[in-house]
Amino acid sequence: MDLLIKNVQIIDSSHNFYGDVYIENGKIKDIGRALGTIDKIRNNFGKGVEIIDGKGMVLMPAFVDTHAHFRDPGFTYKEDIETGSKAAVRGGYTTVTLMGNTYPTASSKEIIDSIRKKGEEVGLVDVYQCPTITENLDGKTLSHLKEFEGLDYIKAITDDGKGVDNSKVIYEAMEIAKKNNWIIMSHAEDKNFSKVDMRLAENVMTWRDIELAKHTGARLHMAHVSTREAMKYIIEGKNDGANITCEVTPHHIFLDDTISNYRVNPPIRKKEDVDFLIKAINLGYVDCIGTDHAPHSDEDKKNGAPGMIGIELAFSICYTKLVKERGISLSKLSSLMSGKPAEILGLNKGQIQPGYDGDVVLLDLNKHFIVDRRNLKSKSKNTPFEGKELSGDVVLTVKQGKVVYKGEF
Ligand SMILES: [Zn+2]
Repeated sequence: MDLLIKNVQIIDSSHNFYGDVYIENGKIKDIGRALGTIDKIRNNFGKGVEIIDGKGMVLMPAFVDTHAHFRDPGFTYKEDIETGSKAAVRGGYTTVTLMGNTYPTASSKEIIDSIRKKGEEVGLVDVYQCPTITENLDGKTLSHLKEFEGLDYIKAITDDGKGVDNSKVIYEAMEIAKKNNWIIMSHAEDKNFSKVDMRLAENVMTWRDIELAKHTGARLHMAHVSTREAMKYIIEGKNDGANITCEVTPHHIFLDDTISNYRVNPPIRKKEDVDFLIKAINLGYVDCIGTDHAPHSDEDKKNGAPGMIGIELAFSICYTKLVKERGISLSKLSSLMSGKPAEILGLNKGQIQPGYDGDVVLLDLNKHFIVDRRNLKSKSKNTPFEGKELSGDVVLTVKQGKVVYKGEF
């Protein structure tokens, strides 16, 4: 069935106006004002049109996550493809890029294909599973990468969860990635320094990866950038013309160590870091928001597992902090959450323009709510945002013209 969303404020990275959006056969067919009375729709587009009145709401392109963990296979007591997908659409996401630290690790085509198949069967979001850079995250073996050559659904490779400590190994991985036009997604944490100083661990590896990307010409994406120094290296690298993109997480721009000491990797940093990350967003050096959605059971959290869930609350956290508190425009937020991540991954998504996929999210910006773990769709409930008041909420998520999440509105 086709879908018409009427009387809504339409915002993407380059538009902000009131009007209607018509989605036909899964793609955005038309945007404009007064796309029609019911008669007109029937005449123009034929029958079988679902009409949604978006009065008082904002419509944005659905969000694209560059960084999530759905824990499937191997740790499905924390999350699985189905619960992860449900959490994603609750958060307004229709595309997720999944990290490879599953069990077994995503180091073979067989595992990647089985995850893709599960994603398709659930059918709520497009799943892009990243292969690991080193086989079984062993930090040295690259021969398994041969298996992924020529596969159009491989966008990025990553050892996320840990960094690749050996500089020669990551250098060779960059050469392979460049040949295949894959992105190297870097979890910058030099294990040699993790016990000494987590700040140094991030900074040293960020600097190294940028230098190697400059040398090899590989596409480098820095995940969850959290320190002022790391962001400075990225800014310098970008100004030097290196092929680098970067993401920040909602938690690293909302929390600082005076508010929260919740265990996450990289850690919650200082207020100066948060301010610098937001300044970098303002100056256009941050490409996207990556949620680093990292579900853990209560027991695993008690035993020190780092990470928090994030995909359901990402919009509300970013809207509250960046737009309401720091005055960043909604178009800029749309670029960070949809336009740019889609562009980085090479997807026909992230804009409300004719010809793009009909993936959109309807938002109620007037809603204020207190985060309550009992309302979260994720299988795990590990979040330091419990009890916090946030503004702005997802009320409807549409993937290729089909409603995949419907809240109250
Ligand atoms: Zn990571």
